[in-house]
Amino acid sequence: PLDTVSPDSPRPTESTVRIGLVLPDVMGTYGDDGNSLILRQRLRWRGYDAEIVRITLDDAVPDSCDIYTVGGGEDTAQKLASRHLSGSPGVQRAVARGVPVLAICAGMQVFGEWFMVADGSRAPGLGLLDVTTSPQATRSIGELVAEPQMAGLTQTLTGFENHMGATVLGPDAAPLGVATSGVGNGVPAGEPARAGGRVEGVVQGSMIATYMHGPVLARNPELADLLLSRALGVDSLPPVEVPAVDQLRRERLAAARR
Ligand code: GLN
Repeated sequence: PLDTVSPDSPRPTESTVRIGLVLPDVMGTYGDDGNSLILRQRLRWRGYDAEIVRITLDDAVPDSCDIYTVGGGEDTAQKLASRHLSGSPGVQRAVARGVPVLAICAGMQVFGEWFMVADGSRAPGLGLLDVTTSPQATRSIGELVAEPQMAGLTQTLTGFENHMGATVLGPDAAPLGVATSGVGNGVPAGEPARAGGRVEGVVQGSMIATYMHGPVLARNPELADLLLSRALGVDSLPPVEVPAVDQLRRERLAAARR
């Protein structure tokens, strides 16, 4: 339904922008695949050729995409994803060149140093984000609102969170935002809440990660366009007016206030 191409199909034109949809067969809860669709549509509205490259567990991971998105998933899916992406390190090579990546929830956890799974063991991550993830005392479920901390973002961020994991940032990782409603990255069970507290998401190099499902780019067009300007290497993109997006944002922010 996303109308995708496979990693080995040639670029139809030299200038076609390729959006890598990473492991939608195991990672992509709560409509996270939709993030790739939104990137493609916002490019097409600006007159760019764009296509979604569907990268599954059966594929070698290409390093040739212009931007990548990876969604959330549960423990078993995360372990499969982490193993496949470390054995076929196309995303890592792209990140080393500064190619933007958007990672959601379990996607964020997989790109970290390690994440703890249900049996209490630590599964290795890809080590591209200076973060570690271990369980909270209780699962965080519901609307999540955050004020952005990242340069280039001014609009309140809105999404939906559902995660057991608490993700702690190391010194090389910066917060995407500060949660004003909902939990965000959370605090591992047994640890005291930290000063400076309610961090949401991670920014490190060309990677942006968040606990926001939704899909997050449907609700936060400014974040979508920031990723796209980086993918295209431009300072900004011409604005597009989408009244339905404004309405969606109003509704979801009001739902979080209730
Ligand atoms: N399994 C992970 C957790 O509960 C991620 C869940 C998700 O991606 N929604 O923390």
